[in-house]
Amino acid sequence: MSADPALTRLGAAALGAAVGAGEVTAREVLEAHLDAIAARDGVVADGDVWHARDAADLGPDDLHAFLVVTAARARDAADAVDRRRAAGEALGPLAGVPLALKDVLTMRGAPTTCGSRMLEGWVPPYDATVTERLAAAGIVVLGKTNMDEFAMGSSTENSAYGPTRNPWDPDRVPGGSSGGSAAAVAGGLAPLGVGTDTGGSIRQPAAFTGLVGGKPTYGAVSRYGLVAFASSLDQAGPFARDVTDAALLHAVMAGPDPRDATSDPTDPADVVAALGRGVEGLRVGVVEELEEAGCEPGVRAVFLAAVAALEAAGATVERVSLPHAGYGLPAYYLVAPAEASSNLARFDGVRYGRRVDAATAEAMNAATRGEGFGPEVRRRIMIGTHALSSGYVDAYYLQAARVRTLIARDFATAFDRVDVLISPTAPGVAFRIGAVADPLAMYRNDVATVPASLAGVPAVSVPIGTADDGAGSGPLPVGLQIMAPLRADDRCYRVARAVEAVVGFDPDPAAHGAGVRR
Ligand code: GLN
Repeated sequence: MSADPALTRLGAAALGAAVGAGEVTAREVLEAHLDAIAARDGVVADGDVWHARDAADLGPDDLHAFLVVTAARARDAADAVDRRRAAGEALGPLAGVPLALKDVLTMRGAPTTCGSRMLEGWVPPYDATVTERLAAAGIVVLGKTNMDEFAMGSSTENSAYGPTRNPWDPDRVPGGSSGGSAAAVAGGLAPLGVGTDTGGSIRQPAAFTGLVGGKPTYGAVSRYGLVAFASSLDQAGPFARDVTDAALLHAVMAGPDPRDATSDPTDPADVVAALGRGVEGLRVGVVEELEEAGCEPGVRAVFLAAVAALEAAGATVERVSLPHAGYGLPAYYLVAPAEASSNLARFDGVRYGRRVDAATAEAMNAATRGEGFGPEVRRRIMIGTHALSSGYVDAYYLQAARVRTLIARDFATAFDRVDVLISPTAPGVAFRIGAVADPLAMYRNDVATVPASLAGVPAVSVPIGTADDGAGSGPLPVGLQIMAPLRADDRCYRVARAVEAVVGFDPDPAAHGAGVRR
């Protein structure tokens, strides 16, 4: 089967159009991406299902984006698209386009681990709604990607299977928790990726790897088949190398689902139709509390240049306050662990995955959980259990829930004045693997992303340039976050497209002389 490596640098819309026009087959597109994975990812590329090597056996430049590559089933899916085309069926814009799926969403018959030893060996008997929708669009899932265990983290270092490397510098993290999907797309292993975002896990890795990444309005994308971390915050969303591709994927994923009680029953915003509208006359608010927020000087400079470019493109820019945004981190780090401690109670050694046998049920339960969960997950369960315990629930969980309401009101008030709010996506550029050992320092990565999560509003990160870390890192991507009112996801993508047009960022690390360790 001929595999043209140039196919791995084309975007999703271009690949979908080429497949639709019969210029290339879905199978050829797939083989080019499987070749790239075999060459760069450190998987054992053999048989129907390719597995990642153990962390100790990975090469120093292996990205380790995928935990499993479902090669045979991807070939079947690609061939099915090619047969439908040959039969004269009309195909959607993304039919035949490969995609990297975060290992927190179920795909029937393929392992789902959530980056945890706890779920080793668990094979879900059903598809997530997201997975079903991808298949219905003719998208070809390549496999399941690495992530921080149960999506808790900002670097993918909390995976039980070892960290993923950043295609911009293999010594650095790709961000997290959806770092595997981000690295796959940035490294040319897939033109599209799906991540999930509870407090920033799509937006921050998008920023760290030079991608567009979107967290939809809470309820826009079904959570059915998404293994729950914090149910009132979790949303799945797209990664892509440009805004149009991300919007096309968002459109495939969003929509009502009776199997998720928190799914929005109304029709989702049309994010694709909004793309060409520009920013002329649009009111843009720079969030005062998030503009500085401990930003590295390089990030701040690139951010201010992008703000100036938006203004030059016709937007009105003003500074806007979200007075309670500064309480976002403490509120998030109580609400999210509280929900996690309840959600993760289901991993008891009986129903899913791992079991460590012991004399009594209670001892079996404790031994299983002690062995199955890594340190960050155990920390969250303890924090969450404490925050919900009688005598402390008023001071911690309920107080955090009240702060959450105040933050949601801040957004509503701000959106009376401006159409969108913007900030840097993350306070710094991608850091070195192992460099952020203190959990509180890791949590500070999420300062700019958790407010939109707590308020449920949509937010998209778009790359705006590169900066170094002030310590000789070489060029690393910087992201700008665009936040819009509830259900106005279209506005996020519209502004992101306008930013992309004025900034002209090239998502290929090689175009920046990056992709090497320093
Ligand atoms: N970094 C945040 C956390 O560790 C967000 C994770 C996420 O969005 N899944 O909780």
